[in-house]
Amino acid sequence: MSGTADSAELSQATAVEQSAGATQTLGELCVLLKLGEIVLKGSNRKLFERRLHNNIRSATRDLREIRITQRGEGVIIVRMPEAADDEVRQLAERLTQVMGVVWVHLVRRVAKDVEAVTELAVDSMAGRHGTFAVRARRRDKRFPLSSSELAAHVGAAINRAHGLPVRLKHPDNTVYLEVDRDEVFVFTEGMSGQGGLPVGMSGRALVLMSGGIDSPVAAHRMMRRGLKVDFLHFSGMPFTGPDSIYKAYSLVRELDRFQVGSRLFVVPFGKAQQQLKTSGSERLQVVAQRRLMLKTAEVLADDLKAQALVTGDALGQVSSQTLTNMTALDDAVDLPILRPLIGMDKQEIMDQARRIGTLAISELPDEDCCTLLTPRQVETAAQVPDLRQIEKRMDAAEMAEHLVTTAQLHKPSFLGEANEPTLVANTTR
Ligand code: ATP
Ligand code: MG
Repeated sequence: MSGTADSAELSQATAVEQSAGATQTLGELCVLLKLGEIVLKGSNRKLFERRLHNNIRSATRDLREIRITQRGEGVIIVRMPEAADDEVRQLAERLTQVMGVVWVHLVRRVAKDVEAVTELAVDSMAGRHGTFAVRARRRDKRFPLSSSELAAHVGAAINRAHGLPVRLKHPDNTVYLEVDRDEVFVFTEGMSGQGGLPVGMSGRALVLMSGGIDSPVAAHRMMRRGLKVDFLHFSGMPFTGPDSIYKAYSLVRELDRFQVGSRLFVVPFGKAQQQLKTSGSERLQVVAQRRLMLKTAEVLADDLKAQALVTGDALGQVSSQTLTNMTALDDAVDLPILRPLIGMDKQEIMDQARRIGTLAISELPDEDCCTLLTPRQVETAAQVPDLRQIEKRMDAAEMAEHLVTTAQLHKPSFLGEANEPTLVANTTR
């Protein structure tokens, strides 16, 4: 079916299957993805597409083999040849989690034949009620009918077959027809994807992950902007139980759906907190702890080649999150601290946590390391010289170096693959 011009185009595409036209089944169910910002990226576009294709493969590696075809205008077709419809539906669900995809459509793929298209479109409206509209567009302008002629032809047939009235503005049902190079896609509904950019496109960062509501949402936001993230959790061990670790583990496993291949580092922080307390931190305890967490994170980030730290801070949400305190936190490290939730209300953050599936886990009870030694009054205007003084007395830089060697590495996978934790001292360092 494809001529020489098409072949040239194909050979340039990344990880692309051969022309889909040759062996097509009538009405094969497959998945059509609409991309967003990726379309705008000019000369880097090929790189972005390759990244996205790789991410799609990782996110579906436990499913039946897929074929990915990049089409023009920010469209990707993912096929699962020979699969049952339910398997393709599962594939579509899975693809709603891949960053960079704006819409996921389950589509039927049919030959570029007006009658075959019409038959499928009529089928797709069986059992529907209310008004309908047909929207047609052509990515291949050589198709014998114009978009509006095709829509009118198919619309008339649906009206004849099912007696449904046409309504172009705000119809109850919409049939979409997209004429592509080798075939036509017929579909009715779409699921919204994550949007944003493919994970990995913007580099790497380390998320400070508590068991709370905010940090998982912060992680999701940064992944959505193309960062591949690792996670660092401080437990109150040995003075608390392991509950907060289980929570952090479950949260990362949930977030792993959006990036695949997540690493969680867990540092027992109880003794360090006690040391801060004995060096007279008093009202500064909370901010001093957070600075030590950040310093430790910075050492680890260096090992992991992460270019930024991410926290779930929101301005004024708790007394430790004043502008002055955050400035004092920035002073603790050289790396930039990204705070994607800075301007969000708690309710907005909770709504987002519910959408990404982390809220219920975050709401489980645990013993947070930070409440362990919280003073009765928390300083809301921590002064940097005072904090530096405390850190000098206890050699915070050396402590941070040491704490990283005590980290345990876990690999929580959304596919539930079991991984034994390893001690970081034996691996990355
Ligand atoms: P969260 O809901 O994320 O716990 P929070 O509103 O409870 O945030 P804080 O406890 O002040 O606020 O923590 C602010 C940020 O500091 C967290 O979002 C997280 O990035 C980091 N953080 C706090 N505690 C820990 C911890 N135990 N381990 C790792 N990071 C932490
Ligand atoms: Mg917290």
